[in-house]
Amino acid sequence: MSEFVLDSDVLGFAAHLTDAEQAALTRLRETLRDDVKPWLNDAWDEDRFPGEIIEPLEGLRLIEPEELTGEGRQRELFTGFRSFELARCDVNVATFFNAQAGLFRTACLYGGGEEQAEKLGRQVADYELHGVFALTEPDHGSDVAGGLATSARRLDDGRWEINGAKRWIGGAFLADVLCTFARDEADGQVKAFLVPREADGVTLTKIKRKASLRIMQNAEIAYTGVVVDDDARLRNVNSFKDVAGLLRRMRADVSWIACGATAGAYEAAVRYVRQREQFGRPIGSFQLIQEKLARTLGLLTSSLAICTRLAQQQDEGEYRDENSSLAKMVTAANLREAVALAREVCGGNGITLDTDVARFHADAEAVYSYEGTHEINALIVGRHITGTGAFV
Ligand SMILES: Cc1cc2nc3c(=O)[nH]c(=O)nc-3n(C[C@H](O)[C@H](O)[C@H](O)COP(=O)(O)OP(=O)(O)OC[C@H]3O[C@@H](n4cnc5c(N)ncnc54)[C@H](O)[C@@H]3O)c2cc1C
Repeated sequence: MSEFVLDSDVLGFAAHLTDAEQAALTRLRETLRDDVKPWLNDAWDEDRFPGEIIEPLEGLRLIEPEELTGEGRQRELFTGFRSFELARCDVNVATFFNAQAGLFRTACLYGGGEEQAEKLGRQVADYELHGVFALTEPDHGSDVAGGLATSARRLDDGRWEINGAKRWIGGAFLADVLCTFARDEADGQVKAFLVPREADGVTLTKIKRKASLRIMQNAEIAYTGVVVDDDARLRNVNSFKDVAGLLRRMRADVSWIACGATAGAYEAAVRYVRQREQFGRPIGSFQLIQEKLARTLGLLTSSLAICTRLAQQQDEGEYRDENSSLAKMVTAANLREAVALAREVCGGNGITLDTDVARFHADAEAVYSYEGTHEINALIVGRHITGTGAFV
């Protein structure tokens, strides 16, 4: 078995990656271990993003790496395991990387017209342009499709004026542009605009006192009479249906994040039970501890199976809302159960950052709710099963 396949990947799903893909991901694993992980616990404790981790991560050039893509595009299986590996180290880091490499890149490539996609895709891969995805609003989360209230008005000179507010936007403080979804006052349809973060009328406010994902900084954004050129509008986003097409791709990425965090929590628990002794024996030798570990490994293996098959299906060109939603729903629920079990076997020390488990435990809550809550993804699957939408 290759060096990249982990002991915790008991059915060897990572063996479906090519040797070159595994080599790229092994470099990522080493960088995370040496240059990223050491900064995390203090940053989490202090509710701040450690800038020191950006250069090592970007230096790996893992968005469309040339040695993997040649003339083509990176595979979903590769980007999936990339998210897995990042989240296995830390959910904040995976979410931060995914804001650029998943959400923003997807918006540019599939929301942009042909010329925009080509130019922006390259700038995103080279980190010449940093962006985020600003869809959710203070008053519209789950019902954003029909409720989105941020407005865009075409001015006489062809430019656009944007007014409204966004909430929860991850990584916004470090972005050059905010990919902002707004409703065109003329036709009532949702469109997308790359708004410079420093444009007049844009105000960012940090969301404070979070008890989950404390390293990842989320912003509330106010837009007051913000004017952008028509070039800033992504040409292929002309209705919410187009936005849903973007979300379908993004939900798969988040499923991989849930899966990677499950692996991280499981492995941290295994490390702990090997060294902690009670009643004169390592706690890993107790039957009830082993049952919890076996259940956690089962949750991880089930998540890996779903994610791997979903990525293979997408690599064959099949992207289906219900499959992405099913994957997000199941892997996030598996994560929530797995972190609780992992925390349990670490006893009191499981609530300190030192065992790593506490970080995964708290951060799982954000993964459970972002990129569509459990309920909304269940309703998307339910609509597919029954043919009846039951959102309202
Ligand atoms: C850490 C974090 C990072 C995020 N990053 C981003 C980002 O970068 N960009 C972005 O655009 N958004 C982002 N989000 C927003 C995220 O996608 C929303 O939080 C999510 O869609 C849920 O919306 P809400 O929080 O407003 O919850 P609400 O929609 O208010 O839901 C509250 C509860 O009601 C339930 N509910 C709602 N409607 C129904 C229904 N019809 N039937 C049954 N139950 C229902 C929900 O499932 C949930 O349990 C992020 C969120 C978090 C927490």
